[in-house]
Amino acid sequence: MHGHVAFIPEVLPIAPPPIAGELISSWLLRVALANGLTLAQLVQGIEARFPEVLLRRAFVDDQLSPSARYALAKFLRVTEKNVKALELGQQFPILPSEWILRSIDWDFGSPDRFVEGRARYAFCPLCIQEMSRRTQTVWIRSEWAFVFQTHCNRHRTPLVESCAICFVDDPLLPITNLPASNGSLALASCWNCGSSLLFCDLESSASSMAVEIMCLESAILAMVAGNSPEPPWSGQLCAKAFTEKLRILMQRLTTTTQDPLPLFVRIADADPRLRHYLFGRQRPGMRIERLSWYWRFLLMIVLVRHLNSREKTGVFYDLRVLTQLWCIASTGVFCKTFLSKAFR
Ligand SMILES: [Zn+2]
Ligand SMILES: [Zn+2]
Repeated sequence: MHGHVAFIPEVLPIAPPPIAGELISSWLLRVALANGLTLAQLVQGIEARFPEVLLRRAFVDDQLSPSARYALAKFLRVTEKNVKALELGQQFPILPSEWILRSIDWDFGSPDRFVEGRARYAFCPLCIQEMSRRTQTVWIRSEWAFVFQTHCNRHRTPLVESCAICFVDDPLLPITNLPASNGSLALASCWNCGSSLLFCDLESSASSMAVEIMCLESAILAMVAGNSPEPPWSGQLCAKAFTEKLRILMQRLTTTTQDPLPLFVRIADADPRLRHYLFGRQRPGMRIERLSWYWRFLLMIVLVRHLNSREKTGVFYDLRVLTQLWCIASTGVFCKTFLSKAFR
């Protein structure tokens, strides 16, 4: 833990309240900054004030222990109900925990930001513009921390996961009520290099593939929040059953066995319309919750095609069988041909 807190008050002197739909870690970051602390120092302060709470080892965004919830409520001067309402487990009751993004290598440049204990995210620059203009507050929306969310369903733009200038992940500084003299634009600057995080590429019209992905992402988001699933995607399945089906599908597409590359990359490689996505030296991570935005986008393309192939042809390709076929094919040529046909 970096830095040292010399004096810990009974309650925090400045306690900006949480915002509905915000990640707990985003709220804690705002509270820490308002009190001139890093997030790591705030966590250290809470642990010193409430010794029975081990926040340092917790993942604060998903579900808090009753003692951690009590400590946050007391120290940050809100009700326990307010804290609980922010937990992802409460906001999204059937969200699988592996669909919450986790840090890749956030240690670079941000040792005080408590990166292992909170969710990773990709943000929408247009949402940030609106937040800073309307409320002088920048915060991290819960849905930005989900594996399946690659686009903003309000603005229909791709989410951004790192600073375009210094490439640091987690560039956003959630903050509340800067003095007016600082100007609202300062709210949305990369904490590492100071460049603006408000810009994004505005395409005149999204591709039909992007439109389909956004449609599926909105449907999954509504479903994990507790709404009924949309029949074009889910068929006859209830929300819980369809979520479980998607969870298993995504797990099979991303998990590697004997093959060093996950199945969704093999599928993209076998499809002439997707091959151009595979370039450069990037390699996908081995865990779905640690995939970068780029690989998650490709995964969603393959997922949309898979769900559509079933709807149009009535054939549901068993990914377990595809994986085994890939592993036993000596040259890969047979499997490549099979995969390219299976996901048309
Ligand atoms: Zn947006
Ligand atoms: Zn930067």
